[in-house]
Amino acid sequence: MKAHTSKGEKFSLTKNSMVSRPPLKPALEQIGTVRCPVCGHEVAVHITKTRRPFVNCGFCSARIFYNGRESMRLLLGQMEPVTGNDVLKLEKGEER
Ligand SMILES: [Zn+2]
Repeated sequence: MKAHTSKGEKFSLTKNSMVSRPPLKPALEQIGTVRCPVCGHEVAVHITKTRRPFVNCGFCSARIFYNGRESMRLLLGQMEPVTGNDVLKLEKGEER
């Protein structure tokens, strides 16, 4: 067995690990809560990267995407917007 003693490789590895520093950012922004149309639980409304609202229900596993203007309008009428600490309050309220 031959041992690799290349200093160049070692150096580039160290450099790489320093460069790749992922920014901590939630993948999907939450804009509010709404009743799940399937099971009726209160669930979070997220915004996709394409700026469309969608619901990913953790209770019944339904995923609803709102892609049309009318569905978005109806959603916004039913949705309770959340900002900052309100999100935590609502999540605590859902616990049994
Ligand atoms: Zn549901």
